[in-house]
Amino acid sequence: MTDTAAPGPHPGDDVRADERRRMVDEQLVARGIRDARVLAAMRIVPRHAFVNADLAEFAYADRALPSAEGQTISQPWIVARMLELAALPQAGRVLEVGTGTGYQTALLARLVAHVVSVERLEGLAQTARARLDALGVVNVTVCVGDGSVGWQEFAPYARVLAAAAAPHVPKALLDQLEEGGVLVVPVGGTQSQRLEAWRREGGRFLVERHGECRFVPLIGHDAWRDVPRQQ
Ligand code: SAH
Repeated sequence: MTDTAAPGPHPGDDVRADERRRMVDEQLVARGIRDARVLAAMRIVPRHAFVNADLAEFAYADRALPSAEGQTISQPWIVARMLELAALPQAGRVLEVGTGTGYQTALLARLVAHVVSVERLEGLAQTARARLDALGVVNVTVCVGDGSVGWQEFAPYARVLAAAAAPHVPKALLDQLEEGGVLVVPVGGTQSQRLEAWRREGGRFLVERHGECRFVPLIGHDAWRDVPRQQ
């Protein structure tokens, strides 16, 4: 067969692939992210497809960005850190609490067999679903509701990742872990938290506490009860 394609950019070409490669090398690898599968996924998933078009030029910058309804798309490094701490098993089912834009959801979908992602704001869930569909992501179930009580329907989960900050570890997120399963969750106040990784082992839960982070609040029955006031 001969290749008749004309040289130069084509409509489907990913014009931001270079920016994305630089993001991975300069923000992630340079700052200690080592998990090869996480790095590979972050080289592929187009973060710019998960922000508004007017923010696309900042999509690979080292920062969180505003998204709809006063929420944020997390800084690439903290997303990578969370995915790395979760040590994701390829064959597993994962619960994500806080779909937001769907960016981390799309990464998870490349890394595990099935993702259940819960978002409390219906508009965000719908937009995320549409973005995932546009990228051809099929192994994700987006649910609308309060993920502070997990999502019992598909439990147990190999991993649970909370992308919003809890005042304490929500009990249901631990209960819905399978044996050997891990919950990664930011725990603390509304302005800053610590990333915690809880592992279910036998009848016990073992915790590792990692670095400082800053997520938007987890709002729900077993979390913050209302939108906390800004200081
Ligand atoms: N990782 C996401 C960022 C999520 S921001 C991304 O890449 O875009 C956190 C999200 O958690 C927000 O969209 C917020 O609406 C949602 N959220 C807050 N409390 C929640 C709850 N109890 N259940 C489900 N989603 C919740």
